[in-house]
Amino acid sequence: MKSDPDYWLCLEPFVHLTEQNGHALFYNTLNRKILEYNQSGVVSTIVRKLLEVSNGNVIRISKGETDNPVVMKFIAQLRKLHMGDLLPVALSQIKPVSLVPQPAFKQRLKPYEEGLERSGLKPENFLHEITFHLNAGKSPLTLDFPTAFFQFPFPFGDELYGKNMDLLMVKRLLSELTVVSALAINICSSDPAGWQDWDELVLYLNTTKFHVKYHLSLPQADQINFDNFGKNSSTAIFVSFPFYMENLNTMEKVEGRAKKNTKVEYTFIISDMADLEKAQQLIAHFNLRNWFFKPYFNGTNLGFFKENVYITTNDIAGSKPDQKQIFSRITFNENDFGKFTIMPDGTIFANVNDPALGNLSRMGVIEMIEAEMNTGKSWERTRQRVSPCSSCVYNFLCPPVSRYEIFMKRYNFCHIYKEEQ
Ligand code: SF4
Repeated sequence: MKSDPDYWLCLEPFVHLTEQNGHALFYNTLNRKILEYNQSGVVSTIVRKLLEVSNGNVIRISKGETDNPVVMKFIAQLRKLHMGDLLPVALSQIKPVSLVPQPAFKQRLKPYEEGLERSGLKPENFLHEITFHLNAGKSPLTLDFPTAFFQFPFPFGDELYGKNMDLLMVKRLLSELTVVSALAINICSSDPAGWQDWDELVLYLNTTKFHVKYHLSLPQADQINFDNFGKNSSTAIFVSFPFYMENLNTMEKVEGRAKKNTKVEYTFIISDMADLEKAQQLIAHFNLRNWFFKPYFNGTNLGFFKENVYITTNDIAGSKPDQKQIFSRITFNENDFGKFTIMPDGTIFANVNDPALGNLSRMGVIEMIEAEMNTGKSWERTRQRVSPCSSCVYNFLCPPVSRYEIFMKRYNFCHIYKEEQ
């Protein structure tokens, strides 16, 4: 009897495959190699078949196809990158099984749609970080960077949300969260010294096990007594430009006082190359160890972002996400998931660029999580849900959508998908 000349083409279960308009991308989550195919014809037919859910990553390849050098070159590349292989049908008439990579979660973002009881919702599975804005108002820092609040954790300059947060409201929320062991708390304020309960809040936070980060401008840090900060706390000090002689003196004082009592990091707000150079000089002058650059979009410096923030295909290939990160990225937004921001009047946001979810005076922690799951859009804002990323093969490899992109309403922070496309 003549043996069957066909083959099974099997993709490995750790390989992700995606295709958009004839552009196919294979990604091996073990060796982090990428294979791209950008052509129509016989290979794109094979890719389309591999993508059919019912085929489960295994398809039959005919003798006619294996006689085609284009197909064999493609299969040779798959084999070389350990992404797939051929198995003679003569050895197994039954189609081999290969698992299609699919995320499996202990907790879903829409638990109620799956019939879970409300009592099954555990805050520790959903909460990572809460940012409290104790008060909001005009200060030199918020006047100089009026939209920074929408781009990264930063004091809010508008008094829209009232001036002073009620300390009892903060304590009530945190007392509900004692089960959340790895919770990070950010404290922001346009005027910490002017908030009536500052000392009491610091003492209270010292009694909790949360990691507390105080975000202060350089002049604010000069007014703050770091002796009160607990061992689980750290301080992020904003340094902005122009940077005058008096700022240099203040930084010298703050650097000397703060580092004895708290872990200090400096956040340089950067709008252009000149700011970047000055920040590097300060880092060298003070021999700083912990520092970060926060690019600030001022409405006119898109060119700076394109040069310094936008990603390239090399950045994407170099980021090498593993299977777990890919599952996260296709399911929720890692930048926003598990995070809430509370304004001085109790208004709650999952992302300050999105509509408010409610008010802390009328909600507990479970209601906050439910509000984001039922009506919010921040936690689920994956690249597959925004344009143009939804039609780009890199969308499961790219970093999650950032606050900058939402604020600037442009989701292609990359040199790959050009504006005119
Ligand atoms: S268009 Fe979106 S998904 Fe594609 S490379 Fe750019 S940022 Fe990434």
